[in-house]
Amino acid sequence: MAGGKVYLVGAGPGDPGLITLKGIECLQKADLILYDGLVNPLILQHVSTEVERTCRVSEGCKNRRVLQQDEINQRLISAALEGKTVVRLKGGDPFIFGRGSEEAAALRNAGIEFEVVPGITAATAAAGYAGISVTHRAHASAVALITGHEDPTKPDSALDYDVLAKFPGTLVFYMGLHKLERIVESLIQAGKAEETPAAVISRGTTPFQKTVHSTLSQLPEQVRQAGLVAPSLIVIGDCVSLRDQIAWFEDKPLFGLRIGITRAEEQSEPEIKRALELGAQPVLLPTIEIGPPADWEPVDAAIARLDEYQWLVFTSANGVNYFMNRLWETGYDARKLARLKIATIGPSTAAALQQFHLRADLVPDQYRAEALAAALKPLVQGQKILWAGANRGREVLQTELAEVSATVDKIVVYENHDVASWGSESLELLESGEIDWIGLSSPSIARNFSRLLTEDIRQHLGSRTRLVSISPVTTQAVKDVGLQIDAEAEEYLWDGIFAAIQKHVSR
Ligand code: SAH
Repeated sequence: MAGGKVYLVGAGPGDPGLITLKGIECLQKADLILYDGLVNPLILQHVSTEVERTCRVSEGCKNRRVLQQDEINQRLISAALEGKTVVRLKGGDPFIFGRGSEEAAALRNAGIEFEVVPGITAATAAAGYAGISVTHRAHASAVALITGHEDPTKPDSALDYDVLAKFPGTLVFYMGLHKLERIVESLIQAGKAEETPAAVISRGTTPFQKTVHSTLSQLPEQVRQAGLVAPSLIVIGDCVSLRDQIAWFEDKPLFGLRIGITRAEEQSEPEIKRALELGAQPVLLPTIEIGPPADWEPVDAAIARLDEYQWLVFTSANGVNYFMNRLWETGYDARKLARLKIATIGPSTAAALQQFHLRADLVPDQYRAEALAAALKPLVQGQKILWAGANRGREVLQTELAEVSATVDKIVVYENHDVASWGSESLELLESGEIDWIGLSSPSIARNFSRLLTEDIRQHLGSRTRLVSISPVTTQAVKDVGLQIDAEAEEYLWDGIFAAIQKHVSR
């Protein structure tokens, strides 16, 4: 065996939560990830490795070269020979209609070590999300996974429709949407009852899941009318009627909506999760980006002189995380803070501190720099305060606390910058008016958002794309840049934003 190793990993059917723990572990240790067109890119949100999308068909792969299977195999082999740990991430399960076994064989021939990490295949996942149990004991004692790609009318078809028509259980066709009519015809001709319950599930387990449920003979017409698109599964059998009783996914409160998330991408994980939980598709529209400071020197110098300070102040969760991590990386730990009092601007900053098992000595009632300064004032007369913050921000602490002869030394432990533009996929959705709601969660986000808009996009706002603000202060900032707000959160959190959308939608 030579070089690195390749993991053939199943990514699951679409919902980014439907990947296995083992699959995630592989992603985290990979040097290179090659993923196919069926994989939801949200799965890759939190890996910092190099990723490449491989396209085997031109559909949905704009501006990318279509790769032949041989080329993909070669790419896996050459990366492994360089000693890399490679993940080949494939939709569903890599060995169910996924060519994973061909890739495995090519790796074996080249003497490359590999492992297979199975995934949840579309048949069980999409059926489950559509309220269909393909093996319900009253309806089916077997299930067949069938390729619909072959033309059933061809004499050399590997599928014997006489056998399929008599199969004592559920038939699930993959890759069959474009041959639906011929599949249905062939089954009926071979004796399958026209009245057999049947369904097509399109884009299963995603916020755009659509299910058409009818009788076998009616199915092609109904599917045509509903305009279903690939990827789609065809499910045929009595179990399909279970759906009437136990369908659930398509009833989620924000099902099918696209919601723009304007926070920094590094911070959006909770909102992405929440949107998915509510049935919506999160679209990343970050207006700022966060990263380490250009220069750690002043931070390291301050850490070395920490004994001179009486107070340490944090005004954001990022400040806490960057400062604490730097402390650790420079060889210290929390004991270095033992003699200091700690103040935070609000509860989420205090919560970030708690992650390091540190308790804030002071958290003002109101989440504002003025309130923090006022709360500190009586406590810090003549003292030295170290403030770990961002490159931008107001100077309220310094001026207010100078009044009681306290010195505030600010160190920049992280930087935030305005993003220059949005990613092409998000931008396309925005331009075509396909984003339903955009959440704006601070006045600076609102201003930055407005700066990034083109005239075309502005046209959609208020009609196809609506804006929701987190608070009255943000609403005012939105109005100041000449935009209109369609809803406002009652609770000044992202959860409040989602609740406001829900209220608007159910109206
Ligand atoms: N290895 C994959 C299947 C790849 S073949 C798996 O195990 O799921 C591609 C076919 O899978 C599509 O043509 C479609 O029939 C089916 N498919 C994949 N994802 C799907 C989804 N989210 N909803 C419905 N069908 C899906």
